[in-house]
Amino acid sequence: MTLATSNPLLQPWSTPYGLPPFEAISTSDFEPAYERALAQHLAEVEVIASDAAAPTFDNTIAAVDRCGRLLDRIDNLFHNLASSETSPVLQAVEMRMAPLLAAHSSAFFMHRALFARIDALHARRDALGLTAEQRRVLERYHADFVRAGAKLDAAAQKRYAQIMARLAELTTRFGQNVLADESAFQLVLRTDADAAGLPDFARATMRQAALDRGLGDGMLVTLSRSHIVPFLTFSERRDLREQAWRAWTSRGEHAGEHDNREIAREILTLRNEQARLHGFACYADYALTDTMARDQAAVTALLKQVWEPAKACALEEQQALEALALSRGETVALEPWDWRFYAEKVRRVRYDLDEATIKPYFPLTRMVEAVFDCAQRLFGLRFIEQPQIKAYHPDVKVYEVRGADDAVIGVFLHDNFARATKRSGAWMSSLRKQSRNGAGRGEQVLPIVLNNNNFAKGAAGEPTLLSFDDARTLFHEFGHGLHGLLSNVTYERVAGTAVLRDFVELPSQLFEHWLDEPEVLKRHARHYQTGEVIPDALIEKLQRARLFNQGYETVRYTASALVDMAAHALTDAQAPDVVAFEHDELARIGAPATAGMNHRLTHFQHLFSGSGYAAGYYVYLWAEVLDADGFDAFVEAGNPFDPAVARRLREFIYSSGNSLEPSAAYRAFRGRAPTALPMLKQRGLVAPT
Ligand SMILES: [Zn+2]
Repeated sequence: MTLATSNPLLQPWSTPYGLPPFEAISTSDFEPAYERALAQHLAEVEVIASDAAAPTFDNTIAAVDRCGRLLDRIDNLFHNLASSETSPVLQAVEMRMAPLLAAHSSAFFMHRALFARIDALHARRDALGLTAEQRRVLERYHADFVRAGAKLDAAAQKRYAQIMARLAELTTRFGQNVLADESAFQLVLRTDADAAGLPDFARATMRQAALDRGLGDGMLVTLSRSHIVPFLTFSERRDLREQAWRAWTSRGEHAGEHDNREIAREILTLRNEQARLHGFACYADYALTDTMARDQAAVTALLKQVWEPAKACALEEQQALEALALSRGETVALEPWDWRFYAEKVRRVRYDLDEATIKPYFPLTRMVEAVFDCAQRLFGLRFIEQPQIKAYHPDVKVYEVRGADDAVIGVFLHDNFARATKRSGAWMSSLRKQSRNGAGRGEQVLPIVLNNNNFAKGAAGEPTLLSFDDARTLFHEFGHGLHGLLSNVTYERVAGTAVLRDFVELPSQLFEHWLDEPEVLKRHARHYQTGEVIPDALIEKLQRARLFNQGYETVRYTASALVDMAAHALTDAQAPDVVAFEHDELARIGAPATAGMNHRLTHFQHLFSGSGYAAGYYVYLWAEVLDADGFDAFVEAGNPFDPAVARRLREFIYSSGNSLEPSAAYRAFRGRAPTALPMLKQRGLVAPT
């Protein structure tokens, strides 16, 4: 087996912390390594399933939890590279592997003998003398198998596996198409007139982007959020704003090889068939049975609570924008590409606040120090940079993470900059999950966690400056990162972020609250040139302006969540054209045309680049009920770093993973169930009392 011995993916990794030996791995190593690892996983499963001994928790559940680690290692690395450092060759491998990985997953979850053992244990779960975590792990595995088709008859299983394989291809293609449209767009600003209105920081990052792409001395506006949002906010050139807006909102909607319209339609059609095989009328019903919300009624009730008040709020905002336009002698009917532009002008007038005076206080390096410092003060963590370790791209920084007792608890990789080889958005992922169920039984496994952001890199020799929103994103993803790093469970199945999906945004959104704390800002928000601490007056302005434009933001988010839910609640065997459906649905709910949506269906990667957030875009608002109510525990204690509250937060939220039922975990942290009022106040949708 020369293959196995020469392929670095199949060798033991004697690297620091067991990180992948990035430099030794080439793209061509993946397919042969996958082949070997898939076979090895099935062989391990066969051993468990054919055990002559009667099923026990240890010989079946704990063993399943422990198996397939070689495959995990390869798969985690592969998907991380496919997201943040891809290439045409890697994308081709991704397309070829997608149906094979789906077929493997079906073979695993539909293994009759294995499921029979799990099912038998599940039936006797009260009599097994399990710990609370073991019982939860058994229930989760049982649900995983049932929800993946383990109980279907042979004919239904065959069709189910075909659906899953096709969905894997389609969702992979969907994400690649969005990236293709994003990479293809280039708005090059050659003259001063083209760049009218753009502040220095925006010009600098756009000049750098032009250099990076070999476009010489112009300025490049890409479809990266950290280009497009400043451009729409500041550019005086209404024609170019319209051009950029149209490109941004039509991703995935162009005829040709990257067209996502038919792909999204076929995904919806197949998901409906998948749900019907399980006996549900629609995909939303199937997806929601395994969430805190449980059903469509609960989700709709939550979304309705914000939708009408947010629309009313957005209408008032629009009137203020139109008045401002009039005051400039401009009587244009407001279009979607005008909203951010006039909103910034209103903000400047009303709060004496503009983006260009905020950004100098938010250099990326200091904000990274800020998240580390908050983690230290709350949980005693230390992040120690390891510059000698090279990751998969020179921009990635590697940190060793130590706990309060100075023991290493994990590794953190920070990948902050936008580039053409990275998908848009921001996310947390892992190369390895925490458990105490390593290959040698009971062995500690330390987590390796990544955060990806898409900040526009500062010009050469200049620091990268964040907007306040960018800083919020940094804190958000770091909150997810802590959920992975602080995980303290025995079994991998319930480690870290493997929670119910409407709980998963709680640790991330909760962590954003520390960015709003004046004490944190005064400690870390310092002017990048003078080192001057952010003035109190500026902090006050930021706080007073916090609710500004929230109608717009809430409408954009909620419209996307309502369209997601409606698309996955369809019961027709054949899904409709997604563009027409979205148009009709927005009209039906009375969405204001000038606000738009966070994501249109043709590039809604949450829904169609995988199934994790399908019928699940509502989870951010669901978790916001929890994070707004949860942070009040610190407010009530009178200290944003109150040690007793922080201890409970760590025990029941950040380190318990899915070992506790989520509502019970929240009550254990907060001492009571959550209420929605703090969320409504946070969004400015009720008058504060
Ligand atoms: Zn998140």
